[in-house]
Order: sequence, then structure tokens, then C-alpha cells
Amino acid sequence: MALSKHVNPDVLLQHAQDHKLSRAHSAHSSNNYNCAHPYGARYGTIPLPKFRLPSKGIDAQSTYQIIHDELTLDGNPGLNLASFVHTWMPSEADKLMHENLSKNLIDQDEYPITQDIHTRCISVLADLWHAPSTQQAIGTATTGSSEAIQLGGLAMKRRWQEKRKAQGKSIHEPGPNIVMGANAQVALEKFARYFDVECRLVPISVEGHYCLDPKKAMEYIDENTIGVYVILGSTYTGHYEPVKEMADLLDEYEARTGISVPIHVDGASGGFIAPFATPKHVWDFKIPRVVSINASGHKFGLSYVGVGWVVWRSKDYLPKDLIFELHYLGSVEYSFSLNFSRPAHPIIAQYFNFLHLGWEGYRAVALDDLKNARLLSRALEQSGYFEVLSDIHRPVHGSISDPNFDGENIENYVPGLPVVSFRFTDKFIAQHPHIEQKWVQTLLRARGWIVPSYELAPNLENVQILRVVVRENITVVLIDRLIVDIIDVVEGLAKSHSITHALSEFAQGYHSTEHTHGRLEKGSGSKSSGTYAKPC
Ligand SMILES: *Cc1c(COP(=O)(O)O)cnc(C)c1O
Repeated sequence: MALSKHVNPDVLLQHAQDHKLSRAHSAHSSNNYNCAHPYGARYGTIPLPKFRLPSKGIDAQSTYQIIHDELTLDGNPGLNLASFVHTWMPSEADKLMHENLSKNLIDQDEYPITQDIHTRCISVLADLWHAPSTQQAIGTATTGSSEAIQLGGLAMKRRWQEKRKAQGKSIHEPGPNIVMGANAQVALEKFARYFDVECRLVPISVEGHYCLDPKKAMEYIDENTIGVYVILGSTYTGHYEPVKEMADLLDEYEARTGISVPIHVDGASGGFIAPFATPKHVWDFKIPRVVSINASGHKFGLSYVGVGWVVWRSKDYLPKDLIFELHYLGSVEYSFSLNFSRPAHPIIAQYFNFLHLGWEGYRAVALDDLKNARLLSRALEQSGYFEVLSDIHRPVHGSISDPNFDGENIENYVPGLPVVSFRFTDKFIAQHPHIEQKWVQTLLRARGWIVPSYELAPNLENVQILRVVVRENITVVLIDRLIVDIIDVVEGLAKSHSITHALSEFAQGYHSTEHTHGRLEKGSGSKSSGTYAKPC
């Protein structure tokens, strides 16, 4: 059969495979040798069905090896600087998680200790975020901040509906709305769309630090506003939105109109940075208007992917209607999450961190992340090629060159996430108009780094940024390498004027800028006879 361009090669491979499968015994290799070793066995050369269940299974060792090998083509999570999600835990945490992989968090009666650990985590967070009473606070583990944000939004929506009904007013005409900056993470907009709440996005501006401007936000608020989502740590640039300023304006509004609009803080990242790095920064339940907070345990909570949290300042803010009383397997349980079943091991991993790191451990990690992010920011600015949009390396007052400036004191810097967003300077763009910033992403990827390039939120979508999230595994050794690679890539582009040229230069050899101590110089050896290059 001729290979027409309309035939999907996968389909052909699958036919060949199914034909062989029906004949071959699983222990035999494709060349009929009996071989139990994964690579000599039949799957070395016979493709597996990708889109249908194979009729016969494969032994576990070969299955492992096949999937393992294919997955090595994924990016390296440790070098994925695009992601806020944590990628490393001590091996003891891995062991604990492994021991508890099969436990379901919802089976409260069967796994009472797991349930206790869950409750302790909520209490730890309520205390960390200054809930007036950890006895009164209530919360739950979630899959991540996204689910936590849906729950926080639902509670605000339900409270608004109850209030309107009590006042004898309609809850449909006009319907509810929610206010947030246009820089909102997709999970926040998802809440509005999935749960039929009008999403009022407040435009962002350069002067407003690319995030929610509370004064502008007030123009979007009315008696049908169920709440304001304030983001502690914008995903675009790492800026903290001003929770206190928003709350003060809403206090004034209430004094004027009698309408009380609550705040839910999306602390996906900042919920685990601010309490440790800048404990004096006021953003949490210390502000009475903040009714609920979410955070991602799997971001700066330093656990692997799969855990988030939502906490309400007291039970009064979680309407009873959202709490399900389950009479299940002989006991009464309460549930107010979107999922029924949920793996318990991510919660156990979070608890491991709470005990293992303690407040001082979390602070040490947060300060290191921020210090490395400042180092990267300064190096990028000093190169002259880049302008940094994040502000965590800038002093709150005065200047770094001031001899009295205490650069070791974190409180002297603008608070924010250890995130570095940067773009080419206008001068660089004017000098090299043909160079596209997104090429930097492609060229860095060829060196193993994953650094995303994307547009800012609506209103500033013509501004392209590159962004690095400095997580704990991006230590100073890696920051040093990253700076060298970024500068190298930019200079390569400036010299060769195109990405193709820069890529071919790169293919000719990685030029390490390290010192050459103990290394041989070029030309130190004799000429080879070429045996390596020739087939022998
Ligand atoms: C990551 C993030 C989310 C979504 O959180 P997940 O844990 O990935 O579900 C929401 N908001 C902000 C600000 C985030 O950074």
C-alpha cells in the first residue's frame, strides 16, 4: 500500500501492531528470540497501540521502561522556570507519600488520623493568616488554588443571595457580579463563568504596577458585587495587589452606602511567602473585610502538585447550604469541596513541611528565593539589554547606592513574589528591531531552561514579557548559569541578526564562560586520524 499523505502513520503502525499482537506470545521478542530483557523484547521494534486498549498486556518491567523512556522527552521540571509549582521534596517526604498513596481523604471514618492531620493543617494556616480565632475558622484542602477559589467565590455568591432575599430583592435581575484586576489568573475568571457571575475586569496600567488599582476598582462596584478578588502575587509580574487599600476604600463605601462588599484574597503564591518574608505586611485576616483566603500548597507551600487550601475567617462566612452532611458508612461527615474522592498523600506532604520546616525554615527558603530573584533582576538590568517589570529588587525608600541602605533587610525592599518579569529595553529594540524577544525563549530552551514569553493582560497586551519564577531549587549556582546563558543568547542574536544563525552557532558548540583552570586549551592535542568520525 502506498503511503498517501492522508493516511495517519499512527494508524498504519497500529494495524501492523495489532496483527503481530495476535500472533506473538508476549514473552517473545519481535525477532523470535525469547528475551525477558525490556530492550530485546518485542516492544523494542513493534509499536504499541496508542489510542486503543491493547488486547494483551505487557509485563510490568517492560511497561515501566517504555513509559519511562518516552517521558524523558518532557522538559526537566527543575529547570521549568515558567511554573510556580514546586518540584522537590526531601526523600523522607517522598517515602511518607508513597506509604499513603492509596488513602482517600474523604474516608474520614476509616482514616481518622489522616483527617486529624487535615484539620491541623487548616488550623496552622488560620493561625498563620491571623484568623481572629482558629477555633472559629473553617477550611478545607483542595486540589489546588483553582478549586479553593471556586469555593471562596461560591460562599460570597451564596451570602449575597441570602442578603438579597432577606431584603426582598431579586437575585436574578440584575444578577451578581465580581470584581478583579484584568491580570487575574484564569481560575478567577473561571469562577465567574462557571457559576454565572458577571466578571468585571478592572483594566491594568503601568502606573498601577500591572495589577489591580483599588481606586479604579471602586468604579466597578455596586450593590450586586458579591466580592472583590484581590491577588497576593500577580502571576504576570509577582506584584502584591494592595489588599489594605482596597479594604479601606470598601470601608468608606460601606460607611457611605451601607453596602458591605467582602474581599477574598487569592494568595495562591503569596499566602506562603508574605507571612514569612515580610510578616509586617498587612494583607490577611487582620483586615476584617478579608473573609476568605486561598493558597497553593504545591507552590510556595513547598509540596508536590496536588494540594491547595481555602480558609474562611469564621464559620459565619461559609453558608450552611454549601456544607453537605454525609451519612456514609455508618458515620456523619461534612464535606464542602467540589470533589468527593481526593488523594490524602498531598495533605500528608504539606503537614510534613509544616513540621519539618517550621516558621524559620519557611522564612529561610522565602528569603533565599527573594535574594536570588533580586540578584537575577539586577544582573538583567545591568546588562543594559533588559528592563525588569517586577519591583522586588527596588528599595521602598531611597536608593540602593545610598551608603546607609541596609540591603540585607528584606523589609527595605518592595514586597512581592520571587518572580522576575523582564523585557528588552526600548534602546535595545531600537538598535535591533529585527530581533524578536520570543527567540530568547527558544534559544534558552535549547540549553535546557524553560523561560516563557507571553503578553501582559488586556490593555497592556502589546507588552511582551519573559518571566522567571525563582523557586527554592534555583540556587545561586543556577542563577549564575542562567544569567550567563541569557546574556549569551542575547549577544548571539545581536551578532547574528536571526534566530537561525544564533541556533547554528549554538549547535557548533556550547561556549562555557567558566574559567579554564585545569582544562586543556584548544590546540593542546595532536591531530586525530579521524577514526571517531569514520565508520569502521
Ligand atoms: C497558580 C495560581 C492560581 C491557580 O492555582 P492552582 O494551584 O494552579 O490551581 C490562581 N491564582 C494565582 C494568582 C495563581 O498564581
